[in-house]
Amino acid sequence: MALTGLQIQKLLPKTNCKECGCNTCLAFAMKLAAKKAELSECPYASDEAKTVLGAASEPPVKCIELGADKKLKLGAETVLYRHEKTFVNQTALAVNINDTDDPAYIDKTLETIKNYVLERVGEKLSIDMIAVTHKKSGDSFTALAEKAWKTCGKPLILRSADAHALAAAAAAVKGSGSVLFAAESAFAGVLKQAASENGHALAVSAPDMDELASLTAEMKSGGFNNLLIGFQTHNLAELFQTHSIARRAALKDDYKPFGYPTVHFIDDEDFFSVQVNAITSISKYGGICVLPFFDPAMLASLMTLRLNIYTDPQKPIQVEPKIYPVGEPDENSPVFLTTNFSLTYFIVSGEIENSGTSAWLTVPECEGMSVLTAWAAGKFSGASIAKFIKSTDLEKMVKTRQIIIPGYVAQISGELEENLPGWKVLVGPQEAGDIESFVKARIRK
Ligand code: SF4
Repeated sequence: MALTGLQIQKLLPKTNCKECGCNTCLAFAMKLAAKKAELSECPYASDEAKTVLGAASEPPVKCIELGADKKLKLGAETVLYRHEKTFVNQTALAVNINDTDDPAYIDKTLETIKNYVLERVGEKLSIDMIAVTHKKSGDSFTALAEKAWKTCGKPLILRSADAHALAAAAAAVKGSGSVLFAAESAFAGVLKQAASENGHALAVSAPDMDELASLTAEMKSGGFNNLLIGFQTHNLAELFQTHSIARRAALKDDYKPFGYPTVHFIDDEDFFSVQVNAITSISKYGGICVLPFFDPAMLASLMTLRLNIYTDPQKPIQVEPKIYPVGEPDENSPVFLTTNFSLTYFIVSGEIENSGTSAWLTVPECEGMSVLTAWAAGKFSGASIAKFIKSTDLEKMVKTRQIIIPGYVAQISGELEENLPGWKVLVGPQEAGDIESFVKARIRK
């Protein structure tokens, strides 16, 4: 059962030394109770406190670290809905290859996975993992696992129904921080040993949720907790329901047997079916989602969806405040103005590009707010914009002394002209979508 802040405070040193960053031990205890701090932040916690609080202060969904450098993190979530706080570690996306696939197809897929990068709102997104599935007898599974690891250097999900083949492949990619999929009751011991000896995580699976819960609890009490869970679902409704029930049980009832990230394989060849399955997995708490093939159009939409869900709603994505060239502007090119909220920046720069004109885009510091929000918060005023422009080389870069401001903040034009002597302010369109017609009518007359 979860402890309250007062119960936790009784176990702390009560010296109020502030080394944990809180003013009092009680404040730190409250943060621990809310799972917003970790006991290790108090250097003076007694062994008794560690024993009692260790379990109580564990995040409701365990953080599993994958990869040789342990940089791929899954789980550690504390809320059911993104708007309550934020989701922490996004669903890892993987692409599957089988040991029965054509060698040329395997080579091409591995090279594609290695080199795939999608750029969205200034972030570079790539495929997180590779799943290797065992279908053929012989040593081809182990050889393919080694090849995938050597070619891409990404953590793997090794999938086999043969526990001994899985253990052999696990040893061959020792240190890659991969996942063995999946331990059912019969071979749980063999696979736990293979995962533990070779530094991998282990996904456990069972035909029903009760059996799965018993298996994770048994593994944990046996001293192995580097676990993921693979629910055996047969349709979209089951996937949605099972993931929701498990996450709710872990977060709301502190039910530890379901407090692990999930692994979901999509074994389907139909494009739309795969897409809908993956969307459900990403939207409903998926830890790892394995796609059956590589498709750039599908990945672009899934990664964009994932980015939307897993960005912190309290911290807008920002671009660096500076003067951006759009196209190949020169000293006679027009100067536009917008805020440093990523989405606004990318939309405005895209629309300037679409208009076929090259321009300078002035982006002052607005704490990542959109135009009207920044203006209402006093972060996008004539004075602050003028101050920013003077701190840059814009006046040396352009001969023109005309700046186009967003139509929504027409009211700052006078203040901006006052603070920027020699400049003329031109009020642009309210919507970025109207930039093209604005450029045609007012700039390239
Ligand atoms: Fe109390 Fe420990 Fe924080 Fe010091 S570091 S204030 S002892 S909780």
